[in-house]
Amino acid sequence: MATATGARPAVGVLALQGAVREHVAMLESAGARAVPVRRPSELSHVDGLVLPGGESTTMSRLLETFELLEPLRERIAGGLPAFGSCAGMILLARQVLDGRPDQQQLGGLDVVVRRNAFGRQVDSFEADLPFAGLPGGPLHAVFIRAPWVEKAGDGVEVLATVPDPDDPPDGPRADRIVAVRQGAVVATAFHPEITRDERVHRLFVELVRKA
Ligand code: GLN
Repeated sequence: MATATGARPAVGVLALQGAVREHVAMLESAGARAVPVRRPSELSHVDGLVLPGGESTTMSRLLETFELLEPLRERIAGGLPAFGSCAGMILLARQVLDGRPDQQQLGGLDVVVRRNAFGRQVDSFEADLPFAGLPGGPLHAVFIRAPWVEKAGDGVEVLATVPDPDDPPDGPRADRIVAVRQGAVVATAFHPEITRDERVHRLFVELVRKA
């Protein structure tokens, strides 16, 4: 019974690579009907789309192979609500630093991201972050070879930053931006889908309902 504006919106999960199952489960319990998306016909039937974590260079290549790159760019430019986690954030960014020269961007977010930004010693780490607009206190965030947002345009709302306890307050990692929103496009450098906390997915499903 789900329709474009129904109580359970159809939210796609780009299913070429990466943490697909985790997002599907989270979306279902956050009130959406989750739909794996591998081809343009599937993309055309969803009311919103999650771009999972994984490897942005691989996903970029697979987007071309599966002929999804242009249809996806068009839908995002047309206002499709999108939520990218980690590699998904990289794909949605206007520009990527430390990417592969042939890696493709989907656009949607007026940000410059730096890939694998947190460096080797902290390839993976966890932190509790205040997250703007989420009721219920800080969010437990898991970072895995995560990017950060190096520059955000005027229309971009910063939702969370990560302080690094080992850094001086003005150190290179201090207060880096790790969650943003621009209109109906949300992105996190971390992976809400691998925790039990559904709040970010609920926030996104709410955005899809309103769109
Ligand atoms: N470092 C990966 C990339 O460049 C992202 C890692 C992740 O999604 N966990 O795409």
